[in-house]
Amino acid sequence: MQIAFIGLGHMGGPMAVNLQKAGHGVAAFDLSQPACARFAAAGLRIAASARDAVQGAEIVISMLPASRHVQTLYLGEAGEGGLLTHIAPGTLVIDSSTIAAATSQQVARAAEAAGIDFIDAPVSGGTGGAVAGTLTFMVGASPEQLERARPVLEKMGSNIFHAGAVGAGQTAKICNNMLLGILMIGTSEAIALGVANGLDPQVLSEIMRRSSGGNWALEKYNPWPGVQENAPSSKGYAGGFGTDLMLKDLGLAQESAGAVQASTPLGGLARSLYAMHSMAGHGGLDFSSVLQSLQWRSA
Ligand code: NAD
Repeated sequence: MQIAFIGLGHMGGPMAVNLQKAGHGVAAFDLSQPACARFAAAGLRIAASARDAVQGAEIVISMLPASRHVQTLYLGEAGEGGLLTHIAPGTLVIDSSTIAAATSQQVARAAEAAGIDFIDAPVSGGTGGAVAGTLTFMVGASPEQLERARPVLEKMGSNIFHAGAVGAGQTAKICNNMLLGILMIGTSEAIALGVANGLDPQVLSEIMRRSSGGNWALEKYNPWPGVQENAPSSKGYAGGFGTDLMLKDLGLAQESAGAVQASTPLGGLARSLYAMHSMAGHGGLDFSSVLQSLQWRSA
């Protein structure tokens, strides 16, 4: 299978590498030169542009930061056509970025008019899951489109869920990330409280992990530096899932709550706490660094 992969960031780069390792022909592209250089060194063929990457591709995959990047890539900017005008009819386009469901639906409509299948397949599982090929995909597509995408998704992930029609994958993803954002704050609060009262963060984390407070952050992504060797907290909060990306997702959750007048008080509070953390200059750090904004000051 010939695959074009657009967006070689923390997630997209390792996902593209896994496709190549599985024997697919991959033409990759990112606007960032350092990202291209990093993954050229990892053995990916880097195309000169997104247009160049999609030439001859049977499947196009994108992994970009936010709605506006996906809109600009596929639909173009005022007066200039987007990538959809360069993708051959019959091609399957899989967007794995976390963006607004309405944007996925908008791009899918434009794609359909050009005879192209566009589906949303946002992911969960973090950078560790991207590298290991164990991501969870939440797919918004017709059953036929999902079956077409499945063999490729299986090379990058171990769980593939059909959430519903196009856009439904995004809705599932932002519900999940609203919960993740809230539980990372709760986990950080609890560890910081225990440590301020003299507990060892490692011991407390293990007690809570095996008790009724156990959750994904305690299992795989402990926010306290040094508790888990591979967690971003133990690497100066570098890499991982940026605070500003979490802030974007919590904003999407609030937008979709507003659209149906749902009550999401903790989602709203979590968004404000990540916004304050970002404004304090930590937007580029992994989102688990929110612990620093919640930590008790030592005397
Ligand atoms: P990132 O910022 O590391 O990477 C995004 C890449 O897209 C950058 O390298 C950027 O240069 C590139 N890009 C932007 N516009 C482009 C364009 N028009 N053409 C080509 N390249 C372009 O982000 P990430 O952490 O890889 O996340 C990507 C998406 O996945 C986001 O929507 C995020 O919310 C979601 N996500 C991230 C994680 C995580 O743990 N990092 C987990 C699940 C989902």
